[in-house]
Formats: sequence, C-alpha cells, structure tokens
Amino acid sequence: MKKVIRSNSDWKTKLSDSSYKITREKNTETPFSGKYNLNKECGIYKCICCNNILFDSQKKFDSGTGWPSFYDTSSNESIIETEDNSFGMKRIEVTCKLCDAHLGHVFDDGPYPTFKRYCINSLSLKFFKKSNNVK
Ligand SMILES: [Zn+2]
Repeated sequence: MKKVIRSNSDWKTKLSDSSYKITREKNTETPFSGKYNLNKECGIYKCICCNNILFDSQKKFDSGTGWPSFYDTSSNESIIETEDNSFGMKRIEVTCKLCDAHLGHVFDDGPYPTFKRYCINSLSLKFFKKSNNVK
C-alpha cells in the first residue's frame, strides 16, 4: 500500500480543527466527548485523514475509559505501533500505517483473545455503517 504524504497546511484544509489537533499534533480528546465512544452500530472505522480501514465494529468493546476501544485492528495494513515516552509515561502510540495520523495508544489490559486495548480518539476516525442487507 502506498503512503499518503501531505503537508500540514494541506491537512489543515482537509480536516476540522479538532481532528487536525488529534491526528497531526497528537492531542487527546476529552474522555466521553467522542461521538464513537458508545457507538454500537455495525460497520467499519476508517482513518479520518486517508480512509485507510483501521478498525471493525466486531472488535470494539466498552472499556469504560471514555474512548472508543478495540481489541484488535482491522488488518496488518491498518496501524503502526511505536514506543512513546512523552509525559513521563511509557506507552505505545498507535498511528495510521498509510498517513501517520496519530490515533491513540494501545495497552495490555484488553479482553480475550488478544488482551490488547486500542484506545482511540473518535476524532481520528470516520465510521461507515454496514447496511442491514449486506453481511
Ligand atoms: Zn490515515
């Protein structure tokens, strides 16, 4: 898959201010503020920047943290995990594999079968609902 590379000024015109701050400046949305936190509809979550398919509603779970949480990614092409030592914490940052958008972090306290918890900002995602007659 080909990398999506744009300048910051390009991203600024393409994204809302709040999505720009999350995906390009690595901010974090306020917990329980995101529109996908409690979304239980069936569908896929794409990168708001480049439309890369990141997560699937089947792997979403309610972590109670206030951010959309998934126990696995959609495919091996979805994300990159990088060690993040900012703010004096040792965390694993999750970015979009295609456009390097900051998405959130991944932790080791998720449910079976991966025991991972991908803690993702709603503002970095775009949800596409599956229509009822398509499996
Ligand atoms: Zn992306």
